Amino acid sequence: MITLESYVCGRWQHGSGTPRLLYNPSTEATMAASDSTGVDFAAVVAHARERGGPALRELGFARRAELLKTLSAALHGHREELIELSVQNGGNTRGDAKFDIDGAIGTLAAYAELGKELGDGNHLPDGEGVQLGRSPRFWGQHMWVTRPGITVHINAFNFPCWGMGEKLAQALLAGVPVITKPGTPTALLAWRAAQLMVETGALPEGAFQLICGETGDLLAQLGPMDSLSFTGSSGVGAKLKATPNLVQRNVRVNIEADSLNAAILGPDVGEGDEAFAQFLGNVVTDITQKAGQKCTAVRRVLVPEESLNRVVDELVARLRAIKVGDPADDNNRMGPVASESQLRDVRAGIAALAAHCSVSCGGVESIAERGYFVAPTLLVAADPHAAVVHGDEVFGPVATVVPYSGNAPHAIELANRGGGCLVTSVYSNETRWTEQVVLGIAPWHGRVWIGSDKTAGQAFPPGGVLPLTVHGGPGRAGGGEELGGRRGLQFYMQRTAVQGFQGMVSRSFG
Ligand code: NAP
Repeated sequence: MITLESYVCGRWQHGSGTPRLLYNPSTEATMAASDSTGVDFAAVVAHARERGGPALRELGFARRAELLKTLSAALHGHREELIELSVQNGGNTRGDAKFDIDGAIGTLAAYAELGKELGDGNHLPDGEGVQLGRSPRFWGQHMWVTRPGITVHINAFNFPCWGMGEKLAQALLAGVPVITKPGTPTALLAWRAAQLMVETGALPEGAFQLICGETGDLLAQLGPMDSLSFTGSSGVGAKLKATPNLVQRNVRVNIEADSLNAAILGPDVGEGDEAFAQFLGNVVTDITQKAGQKCTAVRRVLVPEESLNRVVDELVARLRAIKVGDPADDNNRMGPVASESQLRDVRAGIAALAAHCSVSCGGVESIAERGYFVAPTLLVAADPHAAVVHGDEVFGPVATVVPYSGNAPHAIELANRGGGCLVTSVYSNETRWTEQVVLGIAPWHGRVWIGSDKTAGQAFPPGGVLPLTVHGGPGRAGGGEELGGRRGLQFYMQRTAVQGFQGMVSRSFG
């Protein structure tokens, strides 16, 4: 059994308490133990603040970009080993594993590329300067400047590699040292990826620390220049956001939480359209990829009433054809959910939905003697407005088809019932209808993905999070925002308005 150690204050440290065990979710075999008991969190924060921060700020953007390139290459160099760990500890198929690992490699590389152009300093102009006085002599310029603090990253279990890597890319490029904690059930992959990054020797002392286990009194150590970026369930997110020290000292908090993402089929899209195949393919991918354990996966499939039976038949046929089993066997196309508690939650979620919906395929029944397997499950809502359909995120291979009238206002009203989502996809070849729906749902969504005959076969599916567009969503989805290219640095920087003589202000800060 592997013991996951924390990397703190420049060394790997064993926990001294009772560890939490990590399993292979296909075989239920014990794989590793994780425990952070004994870690001195005040010392960890001081190490980041006193060693990591100054060293990173000394480098400037361009050299920090080189650092990200080194980290990306280190993960890429051990890609096969990481994929294997992801299959074993995460229950991922090879494809699912690549989605996570290549996501981290790609996002680190994308921020490395972006950082090359930002120069050697620690500040960036924000837009054009403005005349403030009677003449242009008195001038104002906004700028972003690196905050001399530290950041804590707490990640969900479903993307141990990408979750760690994408947050790391933005913070390190901004010049802020990171203390990161993976979700425990799948922390083996994050731990190994962290080892590889530390072994590069490229990370300045204190720039990166890893906590395997609980965070103890870590959040109580944070101050006004620090931040917490959390990804996980909305319940835990809300609890952490209310931590008294974070509230009292106005510590920045970013929450990426759960989301009842929708896919909306337009009334104009029929069987002969490429957009129809695109819609079916994306819905099936979202239900089955990573056994539905993606924050961006579709949970609600809005279908015009007249197309309901045809769509359900098509989806059921495709979902029944998915071979579920141990992803170590390449013939299997979907693995288990990641842990026993996930299995319990998913079954309870399906049962709650089934009280208001008909089950078209899948369900709560056990499909294997061992392991945390769930069959791909499709339900159809009897009442399109049923609260459970729009309010309960079932974090597994589960989606509910919701019939609607086909009218744009009805689609908008139903999609927005999710209370704030990460992404909704809209499939139509009708520009006016699409415009109406996109503008109607945009305030409630961090991202709107438009499918049509024009993008069929060309587009990255809606469940993928790309570094150059923002990720996050309002309301229930946490109200956070990450990525979006250079925008992703802003969480770690301060926007300051500088006012003074134009000659000086423009030259130095513009
Ligand atoms: P979770 O139970 O909320 O846990 C998330 C993280 O918080 C884990 O690292 C967990 O550690 C940690 N945590 C729990 N209680 C804590 C506390 N009191 N203090 C400090 N840390 C604490 O969520 P999960 O089950 O890992 O992930 C699934 C959820 O994440 C789903 O709801 C999904 O939608 C959401 N998610 C959202 C996004 C997004 O970008 N919006 C991305 C991925 C997942 P332990 O594991 O050690 O308990």
